[in-house]
Amino acid sequence: MSRFLNGRYGGLEPYTPGEQPKVPGRLIKLNTNENPYPPAPGVSKVLQWDPETAEQLKLYSDPEAAELVGAIAEYYGLETHQVMVGNGSDEILAFAFMAFQPENGRIYFPEISYSFYPVYCDIFGAKGMKVPLRDDFTVCPSDYYGAEGTIVITNPNAPTGMALSLGEIESILDANRNQLVIIDEAYVDFGGESAVSLLDGHDNLLVVQTFSKSRSLAGARIGFAMGHEDVIADLNKIKFSFNPYNLNRLSILAGREAIKDREYFRETCRKIIETRESLAAELRELGFEVLPSKANFVFARSGHMGGEEYFEALRQRNIIVRYFKKPKIDDFVRITIGTDEEMKMLIRATKEILDEKLRQEKREGMTKGEKS
Ligand code: PMP
Repeated sequence: MSRFLNGRYGGLEPYTPGEQPKVPGRLIKLNTNENPYPPAPGVSKVLQWDPETAEQLKLYSDPEAAELVGAIAEYYGLETHQVMVGNGSDEILAFAFMAFQPENGRIYFPEISYSFYPVYCDIFGAKGMKVPLRDDFTVCPSDYYGAEGTIVITNPNAPTGMALSLGEIESILDANRNQLVIIDEAYVDFGGESAVSLLDGHDNLLVVQTFSKSRSLAGARIGFAMGHEDVIADLNKIKFSFNPYNLNRLSILAGREAIKDREYFRETCRKIIETRESLAAELRELGFEVLPSKANFVFARSGHMGGEEYFEALRQRNIIVRYFKKPKIDDFVRITIGTDEEMKMLIRATKEILDEKLRQEKREGMTKGEKS
């Protein structure tokens, strides 16, 4: 820390992103919930710029990102003033934590959820109110009824992958008419139910989504929010006070093309869901507990080793998954759904690791037996 840093940030513990390997291809990367399939074919077409079109980069991008906002609004059947876009949904969430912090500073979210939320609370001076999950890792909707502050719920939740039904989300909205309820739907396209349909009749709802997962554009950094026009205007007020050109020209075009191609989107999501279900079944056959996931990842634990040990053993075999060294979940690893081929390699490696583990347990049992 330099002597110039404002004391307010001295104790800030930043978010730790998942590893992004420098040499792509050498590792099977199942650690940051990216999509294993490329973006829709139209995306590569618009990015093949000739020199004339490339020259447009000398101009700032559209601060309204109207082309992209329009395409999103059309997709969801909303008015354009109900939509705003950000540099990834991380930026939108940051704006929301900044804008919608109530007077008492309280922001409620599940104790086990996206690990960025506590960081936003710290940086913006909000008071993070962590609400425990039930023992089976589900979010209990009634725990949020009558909350005295803004509520943020990831649905489906991360890293568990478990989802609340639309009815449960609605009950939280109805029980908190005077609080803003933010539903972070980063993973909703893999089997969850979007709360967008509840916007009609709930001016206290803000839905946040991303192009990073189901639309294969994590590197383009496109997130968006949908809500009541006044809530969206508040977010835009923050955006225009911070970074008006937050989406670059290339990402606006890429996003517009991606959301246009409904058929490709449906097909890639379908494939991921199918692969997820067969991976979960295979892991269960190997004795793993796998939480029922509606996301593009599974959260699983082996009865034979802790999460860190399984994570390290996979790493030695060039497969990276995500492990959280945190109470209640440190037995688990989070595995992103890749291609069927990648999942086969993961299962093969897991069988090897388990065989080794069982041999080791047998040897230890024998030595103990000899001693006693
Ligand atoms: N919300 C959740 C729950 C996430 O897991 C992520 C991805 N790390 C994000 C938001 C942010 O995604 P992005 O900024 O790529 O849109």
